[in-house]
Parts: sequence; C-alpha cells; structure tokens
Amino acid sequence: MSEKRRLVLAADMYGCPNRCRHCWLGHMPNRVMEEGSDEWLVELFKPFFEEIEFYSWLREPDFAPDYRNRWQRDQELSVNARPERFELASFWRLVRDDDYVRFLKETGVKCVQLTFFGLEATTDRYVGRPGAFRELLKATDILLDNGIAPRWQVFINEENRDEIVSLLKLAEERELRERTAAIGSTFRFFVHAGSCDGENARLYPIRIRKQDIPEELIPYYLNYEDNHPESELCQRWQDADSCFVPHNDGDIVLYVANNYDLFFNFTNMHPSWKIGNLKNDPIAELVRRIREEDIPALREARRITLGQLVRLYGDFQSQRAFEEDDYKMYLLNRHLETGQFRFVTLREVPARKEEAAAWFSEKWGVPSEAYLECMDSYLKGESEYGWYLGLQNERIVSGLGVIANDFHDRPDLTPNICAVYTEEDCRGKGLAGRLLSMAVEDLRSRGVSPVYLVSDHIGFYERYGWQFLCHVQGDGEDHLTRMYVHY
Ligand code: SF4
Repeated sequence: MSEKRRLVLAADMYGCPNRCRHCWLGHMPNRVMEEGSDEWLVELFKPFFEEIEFYSWLREPDFAPDYRNRWQRDQELSVNARPERFELASFWRLVRDDDYVRFLKETGVKCVQLTFFGLEATTDRYVGRPGAFRELLKATDILLDNGIAPRWQVFINEENRDEIVSLLKLAEERELRERTAAIGSTFRFFVHAGSCDGENARLYPIRIRKQDIPEELIPYYLNYEDNHPESELCQRWQDADSCFVPHNDGDIVLYVANNYDLFFNFTNMHPSWKIGNLKNDPIAELVRRIREEDIPALREARRITLGQLVRLYGDFQSQRAFEEDDYKMYLLNRHLETGQFRFVTLREVPARKEEAAAWFSEKWGVPSEAYLECMDSYLKGESEYGWYLGLQNERIVSGLGVIANDFHDRPDLTPNICAVYTEEDCRGKGLAGRLLSMAVEDLRSRGVSPVYLVSDHIGFYERYGWQFLCHVQGDGEDHLTRMYVHY
C-alpha cells in the first residue's frame, strides 16, 4: 500500500453562481454544507495524513458571503500546509462587492483568470446567466484598476470560433495588453476546447475540428501542436494493448461533494468514480480505497485496453481536436457511462426470443414472425447470423440483427446488419456503436468478413469504422439507398 502522506481536500461547501456549459465537474445542485462540516472533514482524515491542505470550495472560490473569514478558516483548518489562491477568483463577486478586490490584493493575488465563450449573447448563454459577459468586462477593468492582471481564458467549439476572433479584437481595442503592461505584468489570452468531460462532453458534437481553428487564434491556442484530430488518435491506438489508468502522482487530491460523496480529482463526479460516502462508509475503508486506488472506474480502467476503447467508442472519421490524455479520458468515460448497460447475444438470453421479436416488430413495423424465423435459425445453430441486444436493467433498449439480405438488389453484398434501433431516451450513449462492434467481431471470429448494411443516414456509421461503398436499389423503393461496408 502506497504511504502518501499529503492530502489536498476540496469540499463543495457553497456551490457556484454559474452553470457553464463547458463545466468539466458537471452540474451539482447548490447546497450549503452544514456548519462544522469543514472541521469534521479535516478531523476525519487527520489520523491518516500528516499534511492536509483544506479548501472550502471546489467550484467558484469566494462564493461564501463571509469569504474573508472563510479564507482564514481554511488556513487554520489545514494541517502542516497552507491553501493557495491560484489564479482563480469570483467574477460574480468582483462586480458586486467593492471590498472583494481589496481582499484579493491583501491575499497576494497577482493575476485572475476570467472565462469567455465568445461575445455577449454566447457568453451569457454558456455561463447560464444574462449579464455574465458584461460582468467579465467590468471585472477586467476592476482588476486592472487595482494592479491585478486579468487573464482571459476562452473556450472554443465549432459554433463560436468566429466570435472568438472578434473577442481577440475586442481585447486589442480595450488595450488590455498595454494596460496590463502598465501595471508591470503580462496580459494573457488563451484558447482551448477544454477536456471533453462533465458537461463539456455534451458539446462533443460541436467540438472544434483542428482544421477549423481560425489562423488568427493559432498563436493563442493552448498546446496547439499537442492537439490531434480524433481520427489520427484512433488509427494510432487501435491495436494498443496498454491501459489508460489515471492516478495521483504526487499529492492525493480529493473532492467532497455537498452530499459527502468522495471523489478523486481526475475527472467529473460520475458514480463509477465515487470512492464512497464520508457519512456512510468507514473512514479506514475509504482511506484504503484511496491509497490503493480501488474504485469501480479504476478497476475497469486496468482491465480494458486503449485499443478496445478506441474500437468501441472512437470515431475514425472525426477531425475533432483532442490532446492525448483528454481523449483517453473521454473514451474511458464513454465506456463507464455505457457500462450501466449490458450487451448480449440472443444465444445468451434465448428465453427472451419472443420479447425481442416483438420489440423489433414494434420498432420497424415488420411482423414478429419474420424476426422469430431468423432468431430460431440462429438459436438452433443453423445460421451464424446473430441477434444482439442492449439491456438497461433488463429492459431491451437497443438491438440489431444480421441477415443475408436486407431487401435490396445486391445479394452478392452479404451478410447485412439490419434493424438497428435504440430507444430515444438511451440515444447518444454509444449503444448502437457497441452492438455494431459486437456483431462485426462476432462474425469475424466465425470467418465472416466483410459485413454490409444499408442506411440513408450519412455520418453515423462512419463513426464506427463503416465506409460508404455504393448505392443499391431497395426492394419496392423509388430511390437508391446507401450501402456501407465494414472490413
Ligand atoms: S466551470 Fe467553474 S464557474 Fe463554471 S459552472 Fe463549473 S465550477 Fe462554476
């Protein structure tokens, strides 16, 4: 067992005034933790760690109304350690409380980071509050007037990239470089897409493509050279047999949610990343899990290879830009979220044959007898063309099958994936992709490859390694339809 003795403990004691669309932590409800919970938390960990750096915030700093006392108390509670200020401060408070900037100066703050998402309407929409953009501009002026350097962080995606060029011009018009130089510091403007994590993972469909990053922004783009198109990373790692297992290198850093759930700081607070609950689980057992990094997400991370993650969840056609570790974490989280589902072949659950046939029939308007005939043949071993189901708490939520010909004029292009369907409330979680991979691998293991499918969707199957092959004529249809192939 590793004997790391230094702990950084950040508790969500007051919440956050914002609801940023890119928030990597996810959107927890705001709830003020009860009086004394800070001391209780530190006392709980004291027997196990020689040094404890305690923070009463993990979202917006200084959102507590008595932020001066709060800062003092964080220092007093810390054990053989002192909390730091970093470049984080509350712009919400800066524009509402004249004394706050004086407090920042007293605590030695030299630079404060402010986050934009474009111009006024876009920034307000992304922060989740009208007025946020104007507050950020006002906060910039307040900081400069008080000798503190502003630093503008800007989040980019496909929909706001042009606005960010305008924002850069705005920074020039407001002479922020010169004004910051006048207080003996340097103005920084930097752009990035953020880790594809927490709320920001929802923005995956509009994540910036590397070739779409405006040229004017490249000098300001954070680690531009280390950003790669998703397709390139997929190609590079598709056969990798190593695992991606995040861990704390130095200090152990823990987040305490306002319901006392405990997490490592690696990623968002998804249930599979939960270490336990400080009110319900014995502290000795929690410390064991912390030291041994023994939680469901990390156990799974040690089991599944990067190659498997890429083949299951990677989009081999996507030009979206990612840094390597961000992309690995995105893939791992996709896998963990999909993990609440179970994927089976009909041979694993033969008793569900009638139910599955009725489900497909309802979705596609084809008589269930037609499905039953194919399923019977598969279950009896007369055919290797299988049926695959995604289950959520045993409810069928996704499915597909394999048949010789999905009703078109090219019988030579066989076999065909058919009847791909996912319930609406379960879409966007990669279920169909998972079933497609399962079917392709299953058929390949029986010597059947390539596999084909017909679809009018453009862009969906490409994500999972399918390629457009040609147009075919569907039976009884008046237009040609697209034929895809997976080798
Ligand atoms: S990104 Fe920061 S300020 Fe925005 S919602 Fe998340 S914690 Fe609050």
